[in-house]
Amino acid sequence: MSFDKFNFEESLKEGLDAMGFNKPTPIQEQAIPAILDGKDLIATAQTGTGKTAAFILPILNKIAKDGSNRLNTLILAPTRELAIQIDQQIQGFSYFLGISSIPIYGGGDGIVWEQQKKALEQGAEIVVATPGRLIALLAGGKINLSTLEHLILDEADRMMDMGFSDDLLKIVGYLPKNRQTIMFSATMPNKIRQFSKQILNEPEEINI
Ligand code: AMP
Repeated sequence: MSFDKFNFEESLKEGLDAMGFNKPTPIQEQAIPAILDGKDLIATAQTGTGKTAAFILPILNKIAKDGSNRLNTLILAPTRELAIQIDQQIQGFSYFLGISSIPIYGGGDGIVWEQQKKALEQGAEIVVATPGRLIALLAGGKINLSTLEHLILDEADRMMDMGFSDDLLKIVGYLPKNRQTIMFSATMPNKIRQFSKQILNEPEEINI
């Protein structure tokens, strides 16, 4: 089984080769077709299963295919480390695609803050953010999410445990209603399931 069956754009296939990805993992097998189809998705998957590429690859393919150069994808992650890791994986795949991503996270010094704001002014198709810092940018009018088409929540259970539920709902309030929403979580307790009902629309469900 290879990645061929997903009919990815040539430039994305080159990115896959460059990253040494030959064969999809089980979560990728299931999540990629659902995301390419435009469905909302709720997936239970642990770190190490290839969950990051499971949402990055179909999103990059959609952006490459549509030729959009506006901010159209927001990825939310609980920590700065995870946001940086996701951003780096996007950059690895999109070397041949000309798609840009900006990591937005708190905790850095003033220089990091300035760099993030400057990068946003220059524009990108994808923003990978921690919720707190994104709220600060939204409140200051430094980021416009009105063109957003895809929202991804990674490690949703950890974001809830860290007390980000209200921030997440606030962020969702800034987004167009007509969007694709994808939620990944390592565990799926009832509170996550209830929360997901507020932001997902008839999602497909995957458990790995
Ligand atoms: P993740 O579960 O997203 O944290 O991914 C775990 C590690 O597996 C990362 O280093 C990925 O680069 C790698 N990986 C994910 N999918 C594949 C794949 N299909 N082929 C080879 N490596 C992969």
